[in-house]
Amino acid sequence: MKSMRVWIIATGNAHKLEEIQSMMPDQTNHVVGLKSFQGVPDVIEDANTFEGNAAKKAMGLAEWIEEEGRAQAIQVLESFLHLDPPAEFWALADDSGLEVDALNGAPGVKSARYAAAPGTSGNAPDGANNEKLLRELAKHSDRKGRFRCVLAAVRLNHFPNHNPSQPGAGDIIYYSGSCEGTLAERASGSEGFGYDPLFIPDGFDQSFGELGESVKSKISHRSKALQALIADFSK
Ligand code: IMP
Repeated sequence: MKSMRVWIIATGNAHKLEEIQSMMPDQTNHVVGLKSFQGVPDVIEDANTFEGNAAKKAMGLAEWIEEEGRAQAIQVLESFLHLDPPAEFWALADDSGLEVDALNGAPGVKSARYAAAPGTSGNAPDGANNEKLLRELAKHSDRKGRFRCVLAAVRLNHFPNHNPSQPGAGDIIYYSGSCEGTLAERASGSEGFGYDPLFIPDGFDQSFGELGESVKSKISHRSKALQALIADFSK
């Protein structure tokens, strides 16, 4: 029998978790978010690439589970997912953002904190980020940009039934995806999150905020990165 794979997603963002949950084939894969665990430390996303931040988040979660979260992971496996081992545990993190050509790739890795006051470490509200982007773009006629996503997957090495022939913690596997589009002059639609109300993907004349999950789950940067992961794991 094929062993179950449990993916622990290193995000507190409910929208991202839903996107990943809705795409994973569910016969052999179970997706759980950080809300199923208590005490996972925050990771400071200070790398200057999507790859670097995704790796920090995946490794941070993998190390915490190996060192401190084993009991909670066993509980999730048995009581929440009703699974008996053997199961493989993977930590999966995404780092993503919007790159705008006329702004030399900004907001990029700073997408979540674009409108935050300089020197502060927290994210800014989506509305404030969108307003800042509209202000910065006001003087540009080129409004092309893209969402980019990098996924970093790390197999938990010693837990719960480590097979020494499998890759383990320390081996980070990356998948990436992008979605080209144009930044609208005003926000529209209430679906999704982040810059969705401003982003009109190529081939459409409505924003992700209007198009919603049914379209996004097929063409988004995250969906493409996840499709690459799923294809790789189905081999
Ligand atoms: P992360 O959580 O560090 O990956 O930050 C990603 C940030 O990029 C989010 O807070 C959003 O501002 C933006 N972003 C990433 N993916 C999307 C998306 O699918 N739609 C809209 N905004 C996104």
